[in-house]
Amino acid sequence: MIFEPDPEFGFSSLAVRAGQVRTQEGEHAEPIFLTSSFVFANAAEAAERFSTATGNIYSRFTNPTVRVFQERLAALEGGESCIATGSGMAAILATCMALLKSGDHIVSANAVFGTTVSLFNQYLGKFGVAVSYVPLSDLNAWEAAIRPETRLLFLETPSNPLTELADIRALAELAHARDCLLVVDNCFCTPALQLPFKLGADLVIHSGTKYLDGQGRCVGGAVIGDRQRVGTDIYGFLRTAGPSLSPFNAWVFLKGLETLKLRMRAHSEAALELARWLETQPAVERVYYPGLPSHPQHELAKRQQSGFGGIVSFDLRGGREAAWTLIDATRMISITANLGDAKSTITHPATTTHGRLTPQERAAAGIGDGLVRISAGLEDVADMQNDLERGLRLLA
Ligand SMILES: *Cc1c(COP(=O)(O)O)cnc(C)c1O
Repeated sequence: MIFEPDPEFGFSSLAVRAGQVRTQEGEHAEPIFLTSSFVFANAAEAAERFSTATGNIYSRFTNPTVRVFQERLAALEGGESCIATGSGMAAILATCMALLKSGDHIVSANAVFGTTVSLFNQYLGKFGVAVSYVPLSDLNAWEAAIRPETRLLFLETPSNPLTELADIRALAELAHARDCLLVVDNCFCTPALQLPFKLGADLVIHSGTKYLDGQGRCVGGAVIGDRQRVGTDIYGFLRTAGPSLSPFNAWVFLKGLETLKLRMRAHSEAALELARWLETQPAVERVYYPGLPSHPQHELAKRQQSGFGGIVSFDLRGGREAAWTLIDATRMISITANLGDAKSTITHPATTTHGRLTPQERAAAGIGDGLVRISAGLEDVADMQNDLERGLRLLA
């Protein structure tokens, strides 16, 4: 029994129902198919499946549990096709390997996930793909960086950790006028808060490790887009090169999607409350959160996103020492660089996620020594505040 989602279904119904195929056992929850291969009724069926590469063959590229996750995520993003991968980085790698060739060029925002920059510079560079970096919100810089051989414009919005926004619609128009594809890493907002395809993006990337899982258990990723590029070209790379998602992790993610909207709403509410409270603290110099009227792109955030997300960053007046004092005074909030978990996390970007940059590069990126990033979890906001207040008192 294949469940065909009603095209009229809303986001929440798709999040719970899309993609499920019930077996003859009549199970209510989606089963986990932990099997590496599949059997065929006869030789002719085997030949037919191999020649078309459709149906169940081998779990490097087809697995029923992975397929439910892919169809559910495609439905939520509003894309035709989705390919799940073993990590968010594998999704970016698969996209580049499938769609680019030697001599091609990428224009990327400079404020993207650090490992994405390493992938571009250390590995794609070896194969003759060049990358130029531009400030995320500077449309003129994007335009000036595009060359005849540019194939992809790549960005995350909001950015990590300073929550700067890109105008997706404006960049999609620019990309299409210059015969490029716009790729949006939608990790921070998820489709519950931002739908890049509605704004003109061509491909959406996910690290499922963050909010799609939502409870910090599994590593995985996905790329969503049109049937040709994702369903054929990127699928072809996955099938051949094998950066595949495990069926178990796919199951964790597809269950995560069922509560995604509720969680993103709760993360956003907690983050907004924390951001407003942090703005009133004397030790805090500046708070970065798109939901604050003080955020330079607050109006764009209201237009482009249906919620402001769970990440709040702030500068402490006392620099690195103050940041470490605040972090070390926490008892509940976890000191870890991961984000998007039910558990709140706290990070000092200058000495962890952005520690490999030179002081000059960090200054250019706006990552000060007093900067602290919080991923607001699902605990009581009062307890998050009490946990931070202990450190803030030491800074008074
Ligand atoms: C974590 C992250 C990635 C990489 O995902 P992995 O699952 O860790 O490979 C890519 N982009 C963003 C924005 C991320 O936060």
